[in-house]
Amino acid sequence: MKKSVVSKEYQKLQKEIISLQEQWKTSLDPDRILPRIDKAAMESGVPVVAWTAIDFDIPLFLQWIEDIGKLLANYQPELEKTIETIKGLLDEETAKRWIDEAFAFNHIYFASFAEEQEIDGWIPQFIAETVLRPYLQLTAEKVQGEIQYAVHGAGCPVCGEPVRLAQLEDGGKKVLHCPRCLAHWHDKRITCSHCGNEDHETVHFLTIEGESAAQIQVCEECKGYTKIIDTRQYIVKPTPAMLDLNTIHLDFVAQENGYKSAGETKQTN
Ligand SMILES: [Zn+2]
Ligand SMILES: [Zn+2]
Repeated sequence: MKKSVVSKEYQKLQKEIISLQEQWKTSLDPDRILPRIDKAAMESGVPVVAWTAIDFDIPLFLQWIEDIGKLLANYQPELEKTIETIKGLLDEETAKRWIDEAFAFNHIYFASFAEEQEIDGWIPQFIAETVLRPYLQLTAEKVQGEIQYAVHGAGCPVCGEPVRLAQLEDGGKKVLHCPRCLAHWHDKRITCSHCGNEDHETVHFLTIEGESAAQIQVCEECKGYTKIIDTRQYIVKPTPAMLDLNTIHLDFVAQENGYKSAGETKQTN
Protein backbone atom coordinates (compact mmCIF):
# COMPACT_ATOMS: atom_id res chain seq x y z
CA MET A 1 0.00 0.00 0.00
CA LYS A 2 1.46 3.30 -1.05
CA LYS A 3 0.62 6.70 0.37
CA SER A 4 -0.40 7.84 -3.09
CA VAL A 5 -3.63 5.85 -2.99
CA VAL A 6 -5.19 8.67 -1.04
CA SER A 7 -6.01 11.37 -3.49
CA LYS A 8 -3.83 14.44 -3.18
CA GLU A 9 -6.90 16.57 -3.84
CA TYR A 10 -8.70 15.00 -0.90
CA GLN A 11 -5.76 15.62 1.42
CA LYS A 12 -5.41 19.19 0.25
CA LEU A 13 -9.09 19.87 0.85
CA GLN A 14 -8.92 18.28 4.29
CA LYS A 15 -5.88 20.40 5.19
CA GLU A 16 -7.71 23.54 4.17
CA ILE A 17 -10.69 22.49 6.26
CA ILE A 18 -8.47 21.92 9.30
CA SER A 19 -6.94 25.38 8.98
CA LEU A 20 -10.39 26.91 8.50
CA GLN A 21 -11.49 25.21 11.73
CA GLU A 22 -8.43 26.56 13.54
CA GLN A 23 -9.37 30.09 12.42
CA TRP A 24 -13.01 29.62 13.33
CA LYS A 25 -12.12 28.46 16.82
CA THR A 26 -10.34 31.74 17.54
CA SER A 27 -13.57 33.64 16.89
CA LEU A 28 -15.56 31.59 19.40
CA ASP A 29 -16.44 33.12 22.73
CA PRO A 30 -15.21 30.59 25.33
CA ASP A 31 -17.91 31.73 27.76
CA ARG A 32 -20.53 30.23 25.48
CA ILE A 33 -19.28 26.75 26.35
CA LEU A 34 -19.95 25.50 29.84
CA PRO A 35 -18.77 21.93 30.36
CA ARG A 36 -19.77 20.12 33.49
CA ILE A 37 -17.56 17.31 34.67
CA ASP A 38 -19.71 14.52 36.03
CA LYS A 39 -17.26 11.92 37.32
CA ALA A 40 -19.83 9.15 37.64
CA ALA A 41 -21.05 9.71 34.09
CA MET A 42 -17.49 9.79 32.78
CA GLU A 43 -16.68 6.54 34.57
CA SER A 44 -19.59 4.92 32.81
CA GLY A 45 -18.31 6.18 29.45
CA VAL A 46 -20.60 9.15 28.81
CA PRO A 47 -18.65 11.76 26.85
CA VAL A 48 -18.22 15.22 28.39
CA VAL A 49 -20.07 16.94 25.53
CA ALA A 50 -23.24 15.19 26.67
CA TRP A 51 -23.08 17.33 29.83
CA THR A 52 -21.89 20.50 28.21
CA ALA A 53 -24.10 23.52 27.74
CA ILE A 54 -23.18 25.19 24.45
CA ASP A 55 -24.80 28.45 23.53
CA PHE A 56 -24.43 28.30 19.76
CA ASP A 57 -23.87 31.52 17.94
CA ILE A 58 -26.19 30.95 15.00
CA PRO A 59 -25.04 33.90 12.80
CA LEU A 60 -21.45 32.72 13.25
CA PHE A 61 -22.53 29.16 12.44
CA LEU A 62 -24.16 30.36 9.22
CA GLN A 63 -21.06 32.38 8.35
CA TRP A 64 -18.95 29.24 8.70
CA ILE A 65 -21.33 27.34 6.45
CA GLU A 66 -20.76 30.06 3.89
CA ASP A 67 -16.96 29.66 4.31
CA ILE A 68 -17.01 25.90 3.95
CA GLY A 69 -19.35 26.24 0.99
CA LYS A 70 -16.88 28.47 -0.82
CA LEU A 71 -14.05 26.08 -0.12
CA LEU A 72 -16.00 23.07 -1.41
CA ALA A 73 -17.08 24.96 -4.51
CA ASN A 74 -13.41 25.59 -5.35
CA TYR A 75 -12.98 21.85 -5.64
CA GLN A 76 -16.33 21.02 -7.17
CA PRO A 77 -17.86 24.06 -8.85
CA GLU A 78 -21.16 22.24 -9.30
CA LEU A 79 -21.56 22.28 -5.52
CA GLU A 80 -22.09 26.02 -5.56
CA LYS A 81 -25.77 25.57 -6.33
CA THR A 82 -26.18 22.97 -3.58
CA ILE A 83 -24.57 25.27 -1.02
CA GLU A 84 -26.89 28.08 -2.04
CA THR A 85 -29.86 25.75 -1.55
CA ILE A 86 -28.61 24.76 1.89
CA LYS A 87 -28.06 28.36 2.94
CA GLY A 88 -31.60 29.15 1.90
CA LEU A 89 -32.95 26.29 4.04
CA LEU A 90 -30.98 27.04 7.17
CA ASP A 91 -33.15 29.29 9.24
CA GLU A 92 -32.39 29.45 12.93
CA GLU A 93 -34.56 26.47 13.80
CA THR A 94 -33.03 24.24 11.12
CA ALA A 95 -29.51 25.35 12.06
CA LYS A 96 -30.17 24.33 15.67
CA ARG A 97 -31.55 21.01 14.53
CA TRP A 98 -28.40 20.41 12.43
CA ILE A 99 -26.22 21.04 15.45
CA ASP A 100 -28.23 18.62 17.60
CA GLU A 101 -28.24 15.91 14.96
CA ALA A 102 -24.53 16.32 14.23
CA PHE A 103 -23.88 15.88 17.96
CA ALA A 104 -25.91 12.69 17.91
CA PHE A 105 -24.18 11.32 14.74
CA ASN A 106 -27.66 11.04 13.28
CA HIS A 107 -26.88 9.79 9.76
CA ILE A 108 -30.53 9.07 9.11
CA TYR A 109 -31.65 12.65 9.74
CA PHE A 110 -29.04 14.06 7.35
CA ALA A 111 -29.63 11.42 4.70
CA SER A 112 -33.35 12.11 4.66
CA PHE A 113 -32.74 15.88 4.69
CA ALA A 114 -30.59 15.45 1.59
CA GLU A 115 -33.15 13.23 -0.08
CA GLU A 116 -36.03 15.63 0.57
CA GLN A 117 -34.05 18.55 -0.79
CA GLU A 118 -32.62 16.49 -3.66
CA ILE A 119 -29.02 17.26 -2.81
CA ASP A 120 -25.98 14.96 -2.63
CA GLY A 121 -26.40 12.59 0.29
CA TRP A 122 -23.06 13.30 2.00
CA ILE A 123 -23.17 17.09 2.01
CA PRO A 124 -25.47 18.09 4.89
CA GLN A 125 -23.82 15.88 7.51
CA PHE A 126 -20.35 16.70 6.24
CA ILE A 127 -21.02 20.43 6.59
CA ALA A 128 -22.70 20.09 9.98
CA GLU A 129 -19.83 18.00 11.34
CA THR A 130 -17.25 20.42 9.95
CA VAL A 131 -18.76 23.44 11.67
CA LEU A 132 -19.40 21.55 14.91
CA ARG A 133 -15.74 20.69 15.48
CA PRO A 134 -14.45 24.04 16.74
CA TYR A 135 -17.08 23.84 19.49
CA LEU A 136 -15.98 20.31 20.37
CA GLN A 137 -12.34 21.39 20.33
CA LEU A 138 -12.95 24.32 22.64
CA THR A 139 -14.89 22.03 24.97
CA ALA A 140 -11.93 19.63 25.03
CA GLU A 141 -9.52 22.49 25.75
CA LYS A 142 -11.59 23.54 28.72
CA VAL A 143 -11.74 20.09 30.32
CA GLN A 144 -8.39 18.65 29.25
CA GLY A 145 -6.96 19.03 32.78
CA GLU A 146 -9.59 16.59 34.06
CA ILE A 147 -9.07 13.97 31.38
CA GLN A 148 -6.52 11.32 32.30
CA TYR A 149 -7.98 8.05 31.06
CA ALA A 150 -10.89 6.83 29.00
CA VAL A 151 -13.36 4.01 29.51
CA HIS A 152 -12.46 1.24 27.07
CA GLY A 153 -15.16 0.83 24.46
CA ALA A 154 -16.62 4.30 24.94
CA GLY A 155 -14.44 6.18 22.45
CA CYS A 156 -13.10 9.67 23.14
CA PRO A 157 -14.00 10.77 26.68
CA VAL A 158 -14.83 14.25 25.46
CA CYS A 159 -16.72 13.75 22.18
CA GLY A 160 -17.32 10.00 21.82
CA GLU A 161 -15.42 9.64 18.51
CA PRO A 162 -14.09 6.08 18.04
CA VAL A 163 -10.44 5.70 19.02
CA ARG A 164 -7.94 5.35 16.19
CA LEU A 165 -4.81 7.42 16.89
CA ALA A 166 -2.10 7.40 19.55
CA GLN A 167 1.31 8.96 19.90
CA LEU A 168 4.30 7.69 21.80
CA GLU A 169 5.56 10.32 24.17
CA ASP A 170 8.37 10.53 26.74
CA GLY A 171 9.44 7.14 28.02
CA GLY A 172 7.41 5.43 25.28
CA LYS A 173 4.09 6.20 26.95
CA LYS A 174 1.06 5.71 24.77
CA VAL A 175 -1.16 8.78 24.60
CA LEU A 176 -4.42 8.56 22.68
CA HIS A 177 -5.39 11.62 20.67
CA CYS A 178 -8.79 12.40 19.28
CA PRO A 179 -8.51 13.88 15.79
CA ARG A 180 -12.05 15.26 16.11
CA CYS A 181 -11.95 17.31 19.35
CA LEU A 182 -8.17 17.09 19.96
CA ALA A 183 -8.53 15.73 23.51
CA HIS A 184 -5.83 13.35 24.72
CA TRP A 185 -5.55 10.70 27.42
CA HIS A 186 -3.32 7.86 28.54
CA ASP A 187 -3.49 4.13 28.10
CA LYS A 188 -1.08 1.27 28.67
CA ARG A 189 1.16 0.56 25.73
CA ILE A 190 0.19 -3.10 25.52
CA THR A 191 -3.53 -2.59 26.01
CA CYS A 192 -6.07 -2.59 23.21
CA SER A 193 -7.54 0.90 23.56
CA HIS A 194 -10.90 -0.30 22.26
CA CYS A 195 -11.75 -3.20 24.55
CA GLY A 196 -9.00 -3.10 27.19
CA ASN A 197 -7.60 -6.51 26.23
CA GLU A 198 -4.02 -6.91 27.53
CA ASP A 199 -3.23 -10.39 26.28
CA HIS A 200 -0.05 -10.18 24.22
CA GLU A 201 -1.15 -13.17 22.16
CA THR A 202 -4.20 -11.38 20.84
CA VAL A 203 -2.95 -7.80 20.84
CA HIS A 204 -0.21 -7.39 18.27
CA PHE A 205 1.22 -5.00 15.75
CA LEU A 206 1.16 -4.59 12.02
CA THR A 207 4.35 -2.89 10.92
CA ILE A 208 4.50 -0.89 7.75
CA GLU A 209 7.44 -1.30 5.44
CA GLY A 210 9.61 1.80 5.35
CA GLU A 211 7.86 3.46 8.26
CA SER A 212 9.81 3.00 11.45
CA ALA A 213 7.81 5.59 13.36
CA ALA A 214 4.40 4.09 12.66
CA GLN A 215 2.70 0.94 13.91
CA ILE A 216 -0.83 -0.32 13.84
CA GLN A 217 -1.90 -2.00 17.05
CA VAL A 218 -4.58 -4.59 16.38
CA CYS A 219 -6.69 -6.76 18.65
CA GLU A 220 -8.08 -10.18 17.78
CA GLU A 221 -10.67 -9.98 20.56
CA CYS A 222 -12.55 -6.94 19.29
CA LYS A 223 -10.97 -6.49 15.84
CA GLY A 224 -10.19 -2.88 16.69
CA TYR A 225 -7.06 -1.06 15.51
CA THR A 226 -5.12 1.96 16.73
CA LYS A 227 -2.48 3.82 14.76
CA ILE A 228 0.50 4.44 17.04
CA ILE A 229 2.88 7.09 15.81
CA ASP A 230 6.21 7.72 17.48
CA THR A 231 6.37 11.50 17.21
CA ARG A 232 9.24 11.88 19.70
CA GLN A 233 11.68 12.51 16.87
CA TYR A 234 9.50 15.07 15.15
CA ILE A 235 10.88 18.58 15.31
CA VAL A 236 7.48 20.10 14.73
CA LYS A 237 4.61 18.01 16.04
CA PRO A 238 1.54 18.12 13.83
CA THR A 239 -1.86 18.59 15.43
CA PRO A 240 -3.72 15.29 15.93
CA ALA A 241 -6.08 16.27 13.12
CA MET A 242 -3.14 16.66 10.72
CA LEU A 243 -1.38 13.56 12.01
CA ASP A 244 -4.55 11.56 11.47
CA LEU A 245 -4.84 12.87 7.93
CA ASN A 246 -1.15 12.29 7.15
CA THR A 247 -1.42 8.67 8.28
CA ILE A 248 -4.68 7.86 6.54
CA HIS A 249 -2.88 5.19 4.50
CA LEU A 250 -2.50 3.25 7.76
CA ASP A 251 -6.27 3.22 8.18
CA PHE A 252 -6.52 1.61 4.76
CA VAL A 253 -3.95 -1.04 5.70
CA ALA A 254 -5.78 -1.82 8.94
CA GLN A 255 -9.18 -1.93 7.29
CA GLU A 256 -7.93 -4.07 4.42
CA ASN A 257 -6.71 -6.53 7.04
CA GLY A 258 -10.17 -6.70 8.58
CA TYR A 259 -9.78 -4.33 11.53
CA LYS A 260 -12.04 -1.42 12.46
CA SER A 261 -11.60 1.90 14.21
CA ALA A 262 -14.52 1.01 16.45
CA GLY A 263 -13.86 -2.35 18.04
CA GLU A 264 -16.74 -4.74 18.55
CA THR A 265 -18.23 -4.87 22.00
CA LYS A 266 -18.28 -8.40 23.24
CA GLN A 267 -21.58 -9.78 24.46
CA THR A 268 -21.22 -10.65 28.11
CA ASN A 269 -24.16 -12.48 29.62
ZN1 LIG B 1 -12.91 13.66 20.83
ZN1 LIG C 1 -9.66 -5.07 21.62
